[in-house]
Amino acid sequence: MDIRCRKTKCVYNDRYTCKAKGIKVDKKVLCSTFEKGDKPEMDVTKHMFEGDPPQYAPQRDSKTLKILCDAKCLFNKDGVCVSNGITVNSISEKPFCVSFLEGP
Ligand code: SF4
Ligand code: SF4
Repeated sequence: MDIRCRKTKCVYNDRYTCKAKGIKVDKKVLCSTFEKGDKPEMDVTKHMFEGDPPQYAPQRDSKTLKILCDAKCLFNKDGVCVSNGITVNSISEKPFCVSFLEGP
């Protein structure tokens, strides 16, 4: 399990990897563990033209990470995310789980 996250302002974010012990995704598919820190938002577009790609932190050990989730998603099994990894992106400034697939 790995969480890639573009909310680089979040205190748990280390170079696009989530370092929280666990996260909670709510009914609106937003990461409610998000905590705004004082780090500057990384500007990915800036790097694209400079041949200087952004640095990514290594992936995490899957067993140590738990994602609790309230969204009606195909990967949701009894309130726990069973996906191999998720990606969280900023949608209207909110940390949205873009790995969401609408489920029953
Ligand atoms: S917004 Fe959520 S997924 Fe992203 S780094 Fe923060 S706690 Fe982790
Ligand atoms: S992939 Fe689905 S179950 Fe997993 S955290 Fe995202 S919305 Fe929740």
